[in-house]
Amino acid sequence: MKNFLDGIINRNKYICENGKVADYIPGLSSANKNHLGICVIDNDGTLLKSGDSEVKFTIQSISKPLTLMLALLDRGEKYVFSKVGMEPTGDAFNSIRKLETGRMRKPFNPMINAGAIEICSMIKGHSGEEKFNRVLDFFRLISENPNLEINDEIYQGEKETGNRNRSMAYFLKGEGLITGDVEEVLDIYFKQCSIEVTAVDLAKIGLFLAKGGVLSSGERVVSEHIATIAKTLMATCGMYDGSGEFAIKVGIPSKSGVGGGILSVVPGKMGIGVFGPSLDQKGNSIAGIAVLEEIAENFKFSIFN
Ligand code: GLU
Repeated sequence: MKNFLDGIINRNKYICENGKVADYIPGLSSANKNHLGICVIDNDGTLLKSGDSEVKFTIQSISKPLTLMLALLDRGEKYVFSKVGMEPTGDAFNSIRKLETGRMRKPFNPMINAGAIEICSMIKGHSGEEKFNRVLDFFRLISENPNLEINDEIYQGEKETGNRNRSMAYFLKGEGLITGDVEEVLDIYFKQCSIEVTAVDLAKIGLFLAKGGVLSSGERVVSEHIATIAKTLMATCGMYDGSGEFAIKVGIPSKSGVGGGILSVVPGKMGIGVFGPSLDQKGNSIAGIAVLEEIAENFKFSIFN
């Protein structure tokens, strides 16, 4: 398997040339577009990695299914989905238009920015700081990495350039969907996007989900049902507006982020973390998708098989 992973990385590395790194803030545009790495951890804890699996990058949108699980713990399913839908949009992750014109009158799902910002408003705590610290602690717990931290340069960049997100948050406040302080909610969102991880961290989170919400120690953190909600939304909406094509070509519940990460879950079997900051036009790691395609085909990992 280790040789197989090395082979996959070597075979797909050239694809990095065909994409480009996110460039909306300096902290992201300085990424090395030729980085490509993978980590897989199977059910019995065997961890294998290849390529740039220890390089740190920001979690970005991969934070969305994680904070969703915390919101589900804090508020329950009924409350959460009264304020955010469960349907794919077919639009870009930062699209605004369906917020007003869509039939739902709430963000379509928690994987798009509007929905993820709405989810941040549900996290319990007495102050913004306490709420974000609960988010960070939750990410640390399920990645089994107590050292996760924010990349401050990227956080500042997100905050300075995040006016589109700001506009959506104020719209949601105007609709009564966000209660409380909008800037505090946005700050939690910008911070959670700026948490640094590696492909190894993502594989650990993937295994946690593959096991239905259980840590390697056997400790249950979320119910099986909450883990299933996260995995299902990853499968239907996790790869931006490329989720349908990805479901056909790969068929492994996954969430991508513009930092170049992909979190993948083979239910009951394996967690996979991929890192490759060269992105395709939809914002997904271009070589990372090719790597997952090869793995899915080789091991018949599509959940739709
Ligand atoms: N921080 C980014 C934003 O809110 C997240 C982008 C992403 O990974 O999809 O625009």
